Amino acid sequence: SIAVVGSSNIDFAARVAKLPKPGQTVPAKEYISGPGGKGCNQALAIARLGVSPVFISKIGDDALGRQLVTSLAAEGIDTSHLIIADAAQTGTALISIDEAGENMITVVGGANMTMTRGDLHEKQDYLRDCDYLLLQLECPVVAVDCAIKYAREGGAKIMLDPAPVPDHMVMRDLLALTDIVTPNSTECRAMTGIEPVDEASAKKAAKVLHDMGPKTVIIKMGRQGAYYSTPDMSGLVASFTVSAIDTVGAGDCFNAGLAVALHGGQALPDAVRFACATGALATTRNGAGDAAPTLDQVLALLEP
Ligand code: ADP
Repeated sequence: SIAVVGSSNIDFAARVAKLPKPGQTVPAKEYISGPGGKGCNQALAIARLGVSPVFISKIGDDALGRQLVTSLAAEGIDTSHLIIADAAQTGTALISIDEAGENMITVVGGANMTMTRGDLHEKQDYLRDCDYLLLQLECPVVAVDCAIKYAREGGAKIMLDPAPVPDHMVMRDLLALTDIVTPNSTECRAMTGIEPVDEASAKKAAKVLHDMGPKTVIIKMGRQGAYYSTPDMSGLVASFTVSAIDTVGAGDCFNAGLAVALHGGQALPDAVRFACATGALATTRNGAGDAAPTLDQVLALLEP
């Protein structure tokens, strides 16, 4: 199975002509609201690709939490692994996007930031049982670390999306326990000091990341595609040409695609291509979790 341990939010996104300055109020015609948070986005995208994930996440005992349960259940996700926080709100992201696509985001971690070792202790059987464990860093590091330990005991492959990038010491500790690390360009630069703009620079950055532990390094490079590197092989996979309207969630869909393809037995270069197709399709739709494509859509883009 594929397990995901991570954040769940309800996002509120409004398009504005110009982003507000401090103290300013700007009008918007409407907002869209839907599931977000990197963990939830990855879980939803995995489900759309036809694999039912074990999704462990923490929500509040409130209306937004119930909205999340309904949305996840509608996608066929088992919601019994969602943990209800005693005294914290469901995470939210308040997003404003201007006409140029520039955004301003306030994230309320809420219940996500209350995930404890104890919560994961209760889920240890599922973690020991999984083949792939997907993690991001929108939950407390102690919880992430604990999930990794249970999953490793069961022999799972650990796939870490280092977002948001933590401080250097925490990063080192986590990477030492990670099999597959998947930074985007910004995260890659923060972690290595190297901006991955082409294959040569991505290769240099990948070396720095390999030296911190992961055998497999995947660098997500937006419209440039993705670079993969292992001790045996490396290469740059070109992105698919699509008309991108909203790149939010592209990286999460990429990770979901990568996990589903690897779990299905695909070789790494094929899995990265599958992931690029999944990420590309996510940019053609608005929203975060709701932007994930179906398996048929990904297969159509791969083999038109
Ligand atoms: P993140 O969403 O984490 O910032 P990226 O922007 O690198 O990560 O997007 C993840 C992946 O999605 C990329 O590696 C690429 O395969 C695909 N992708 C992103 N933006 C585009 C785009 N404009 N056109 C085609 N594919 C894209």
